[in-house]
Amino acid sequence: MKVVKYRCSKCLNIMEVLDSSTDRTVECTECKSEFRLAQSITKKVWHMLVKDGKNLGHHNSDLQYDEGIPYAVFEWLMTHEGEVPSVRVPLDPKYLHEGNFGKADYLYEFPVVWPKR
Ligand SMILES: [Zn+2]
Repeated sequence: MKVVKYRCSKCLNIMEVLDSSTDRTVECTECKSEFRLAQSITKKVWHMLVKDGKNLGHHNSDLQYDEGIPYAVFEWLMTHEGEVPSVRVPLDPKYLHEGNFGKADYLYEFPVVWPKR
C-alpha cells in the first residue's frame, strides 16, 4: 500500500494518507476544504529494493514514464492538478522488461536503491 502526501493548495497543510480508497475525495484536516482527485491508473514494476544499505527483497512499485524515462515511484504527492511523484528512482530501460509478472506489469533485473533525502 502506498503512502500519499497531499498538500492543500488553500492553506498549504501537508497530510499523509494511505491510498486505500478508490473514492479520491480528500478533506483538508486544517481548513476542511474538500477535493476530488482523478484516479490515476498506474503500472507496477517488480524489483529488489535496497534501503539504508539493506536488501529488503522484492518490492512492487509504481512505474512512471516521464519524458521517456522510466521511474520506480515510492511516494506520491497529491496536488489539485493530480498526483506528482515525490520519491522516485530512474530505471535503466536495458534491464526493464514488460510482461505479465503476477501483480506487476514490468520486471526490473537490478536492485533499486531507495534515495536518501
Ligand atoms: Zn487546507
